[in-house]
Amino acid sequence: MSKFVRFSLGGEVRYGMLEGDTVKVLRGSPFDCQGFSFSVRLEQIELLAPCLPSKIVCVGLNYRDHAEEIGASLPEEPHIFLKPPTAVIGPGQAIVIPSMSRRVDYEGELALVVKKRARNVPPEEAADCILGYTCFNDVTARDLVEKDKGPLRAKMFDTFAAIGPCISCGIDPGALALKTYVNGELRQSSNTSNLVFDPLQLVSFVSAVMTLLPGDVISTGTPSGIAPLKVGDLVEVEIEGIGRLSNPVASHAGERK
Ligand code: MG
Repeated sequence: MSKFVRFSLGGEVRYGMLEGDTVKVLRGSPFDCQGFSFSVRLEQIELLAPCLPSKIVCVGLNYRDHAEEIGASLPEEPHIFLKPPTAVIGPGQAIVIPSMSRRVDYEGELALVVKKRARNVPPEEAADCILGYTCFNDVTARDLVEKDKGPLRAKMFDTFAAIGPCISCGIDPGALALKTYVNGELRQSSNTSNLVFDPLQLVSFVSAVMTLLPGDVISTGTPSGIAPLKVGDLVEVEIEGIGRLSNPVASHAGERK
């Protein structure tokens, strides 16, 4: 198992491989690795979102327990929607509550990161297209889902796609414990064994709709236990074999232009 991170060091953005408290800096990126240069200590760097997706594809209603929670029947095919790349934030960066919404929820999810260009990939070849897995918070302005009659504006705000802290490669996504905490209190607890459509099926399905590019993210949906966030909260998504993604929640007041 290897864990890739993206980080800033002295104003320069680099990729590296995490080994305990040390990061071995990559020549190039995890998508075209050309070996390692030097090592830095984790405390010397600022972690960023581990990849720069050209698009983020999210899947709605993909956990059996979440479907039960809201009284919905299981979907026959994945319900997908997009988040723009401008929504991405990394570990430690603030989720900003927009002025348009009165209710912003966390959604802790397992996301996969695409390794190479993929178009019309059958499920049995999809594993080759996946670099690894990361934690994802599909932040959602719940009141706007209702207002817009779908997950449109509600999912697209800046800071509504928290990704990190690393891309974990070589893990089996079939039965990973997934937990979401708000201010240290456990709010979501499930297992990826409850997924309706697994990562291989999702890569296959999405690649039949749009060409997937290296660094693109597909987030696999959230389990039961979604609830609102408020300014000052700390929300954390933790997945077995990956780590914990922590983000504070901030007000739009004083937000930079
Ligand atoms: Mg979601």
